Amino acid sequence: MNPDIPVLLEQVAQVVGAARVLTDPSQTSPYQADWRGRYQGSALAVLMPGSTQEVVELVKTCAQLNVSIVPQGGNTGLVGGAVAGAERPSVILNLSRLNRIREIDAQSNSLTAEAGCILANVREAAEENQRQFPLLLGSVGSCEIGGLVSTNAGGTGVLRYGNMRELVLGLEVVLPDGTLWNGLRALRKDNAGYDLKQLFIGAEGTLGVVTAAVLKLFPRLNVSATAMVSLSGVKEAVDLLRFMQEQVGNRIEAFEIMSRRQIELVLQHGHGLQSPMELDSEWYVLMEIADSSPRWDAVSELQNTLETAFEQDLVTNAVVATDVAKANRIWELRHNISEANKRAGFTVSNDTSVPISKLPLFIDQVTERIERNVAGAAVCHAGHIGDGNIHVIAVLPRSVYGTSVECEAAAARINLIVHEASVELNGSISAEHGIGKMHVERLERFKPAVDLQMMRTIKAAFDPSNLMNPGKILRDRAEKE
Ligand SMILES: Cc1cc2nc3c(=O)[nH]c(=O)nc-3n(C[C@H](O)[C@H](O)[C@H](O)COP(=O)(O)OP(=O)(O)OC[C@H]3O[C@@H](n4cnc5c(N)ncnc54)[C@H](O)[C@@H]3O)c2cc1C
Repeated sequence: MNPDIPVLLEQVAQVVGAARVLTDPSQTSPYQADWRGRYQGSALAVLMPGSTQEVVELVKTCAQLNVSIVPQGGNTGLVGGAVAGAERPSVILNLSRLNRIREIDAQSNSLTAEAGCILANVREAAEENQRQFPLLLGSVGSCEIGGLVSTNAGGTGVLRYGNMRELVLGLEVVLPDGTLWNGLRALRKDNAGYDLKQLFIGAEGTLGVVTAAVLKLFPRLNVSATAMVSLSGVKEAVDLLRFMQEQVGNRIEAFEIMSRRQIELVLQHGHGLQSPMELDSEWYVLMEIADSSPRWDAVSELQNTLETAFEQDLVTNAVVATDVAKANRIWELRHNISEANKRAGFTVSNDTSVPISKLPLFIDQVTERIERNVAGAAVCHAGHIGDGNIHVIAVLPRSVYGTSVECEAAAARINLIVHEASVELNGSISAEHGIGKMHVERLERFKPAVDLQMMRTIKAAFDPSNLMNPGKILRDRAEKE
């Protein structure tokens, strides 16, 4: 039964005030489309609560009126997870106004942030307290804690600190019927029953609305060194990682791979960015080592280690940044990938992972299969090689793929090739971006039936009416199969 829309709008306005209920397309359009512009949503309204209590009231109202809720943070997700589908009447619940840092406990190394806190602000608050929150991704200036929790975000720091799943100590969540669950504990050890918070991490808003999180902090890093190196192949990059780990232990802060073609795209579309080294190899690794002890000479350590790596034929050339500005220039290449690829035309980006030892084979296989099966596709690669997470990116020339139908058909073929290759090697079709709307069918195809059944059982237990972000991760049964 369709809800009475005027009644819905009146009741939610009573909770948050009419000015926080956006319905005019001129106001709602930035919230309706996803970051890449691939999906256009059709939410009845965008609701902007300012407190957990308001979230509770809004969720209860929507549950009573049978209106679906699509939670939204910074809307930087890359799989269409924060876009409202047309199958059911729904509202977007944007959490950006819940942006207070509630507590920093430096002794316990923990920080409690509301869901709408922007990652950059959380990192800054930790810095001000001589601590660091190590999660770092290209969207750092706009993605929010609730979104990061809900996508189990990764980024460049996973090798050393783990992804969001390992960085969350506690959560506060509004359940689909409006019940408030206060799991905001800062405990490092808690074996009293199921670890409930883990259910909501990576759930992409399908099990409840995250309103706050207790995050793990780490000692602030006082010394660091960054380098860009060229190598002859992906195998050498994997060997170099192992070699670096033997030499500097767990001080590797980031270890990222980029193919030459990907760097060239960034230089072409990256607003005047320049490469710090000549691009005369096919593969490059951008790395940083760091430590909290000011007595450690990170730059000399990196220079010496890379010299030995050069003697052992692991690298063909290297540039070590001698100051922060030069280090930033190296990292700008990495952090501008998504922006540059968006500008480059129709790009199909994948987010698979395979066991690290299988990366060379995986990259060879997908590149060859895409180039053989998708006319004109230019394949490039970037990723978190230390996590076995490679983004295989195919750029489709406008001269061959003139219409969106042609682009989407090619994208489907590319995705299938990449996903098949990763699953053949015991990998995953999504390493960090999630499933969202984009990969629902492929999850059904590649996930074992028992896994899917357990996921559906959990979803039905939390959200029997399927009101919380329907059609994301799992197919909405209201949709035609
Ligand atoms: C330039 C760029 C670089 C990126 N690099 C990386 C990267 O290196 N690693 C990586 O993992 N991701 C990366 N991303 C993807 C994206 O930034 C992350 O997925 C991020 O976690 C999304 O946060 P958000 O606040 O924008 O969430 P949104 O996009 O608003 O939402 C994402 C999902 O979470 C749900 N959600 C949001 N808030 C809540 C909440 N409070 N409660 C419940 N559910 C909620 C939404 O419904 C949706 O399903 C990148 C994106 C861009 C644009």
